[in-house]
Formats: sequence, structure tokens, C-alpha cells
Amino acid sequence: MTMKAITVRQPWAWAIAHGGKTVENRSQAFTYRGTLAIHAGHTSAPAAAFDTVDRIVGPASDPWERDHRVGAIVAVTTLVDAHVATAECCPGNPWAERPDQAPEHRRNRLTHLVLTDTYALDDPIPNVGGKLGLWSLTPVVGVDQIDALLAMYRDQFPAVASLRKILAASGGAR
Ligand SMILES: [Zn+2]
Repeated sequence: MTMKAITVRQPWAWAIAHGGKTVENRSQAFTYRGTLAIHAGHTSAPAAAFDTVDRIVGPASDPWERDHRVGAIVAVTTLVDAHVATAECCPGNPWAERPDQAPEHRRNRLTHLVLTDTYALDDPIPNVGGKLGLWSLTPVVGVDQIDALLAMYRDQFPAVASLRKILAASGGAR
């Protein structure tokens, strides 16, 4: 049993888990589609990122309201698509960075990872180190823990298994 994960800096990990962020901006596309753990990395994004989250979801009424913990698995989601970002894709999605807003070094390879059916863990799994790219939770997180995560996620989203079948049959979304 394995489970794929990506490391996301705060506050983006919080935004995926709790703020309705359904697009993760990357400079690398993955061919993988399916269940994906969201790991909050040890390094946080620059302060401007926190302002962006406030702008999209509204400011927190209390500074402790948002759980910006680091080094933990904070959510499980499903990666359904990855595409090169354009000015027109993901219409109306405030989380989708546009090529002309992206830092110059990744402007030409800005990729949107599209996430759906996100389940925020009530009890994030702590003390997990991050990695670059797409990585496998084992052996970092115990097999029993991964089984428990998957069971929780599938209880929450029974449609996920069939969605994965549809995507596999169609060769992935777009
Ligand atoms: Zn897009």
C-alpha cells in the first residue's frame, strides 16, 4: 500500500485543506492522477502569500484561527488534472496563478494541478519531512496510518474510486 504526496508551503497547505483552494501552482506537471496527501512543508511562503489567502477567503478574525502547522500531513485530496497554465484556463478560479503573474523563472512552465474532494484531517499526522516533486508516503508514514487515511477519505467521498476509474478509462482529464 502506498500513497502519493506533495509538499506544499504554508499558507497554501492551509488554503487547500480549509480554504477551498482547488488549484496548486507548480512548475512541473505530473502524469499521476488519484488520491494525494497534502504535506505542509517546513518552509513557509513569503508574506505576500498570506495576504493573497486573506484577500481570497477574507482575513482571519483571530490570528490563531488558521492552523498553519508545518511538517505534517494536513489533508487528502484527489489530483484529477494537470495542465500548462494559460490566461484563460480554470476560469474564475482565484487560486489559479496566471503566467503573467508568475515569477519569471517558472512563467513558461507554470502548471496547474487541479484538486477535488479535499478532506482536511482533524488530526494532522505530525513530524513528517517534505520532499520535492511527487513522493511516496511510505516508508515515512506507517502503512497502518496510510490505510486509516484512505479509509477515512473513501468514507468521506465514496465517489472517488469511480471517478478514478473514469479518468483512467479516458486517459486522464484533458
Ligand atoms: Zn488552469
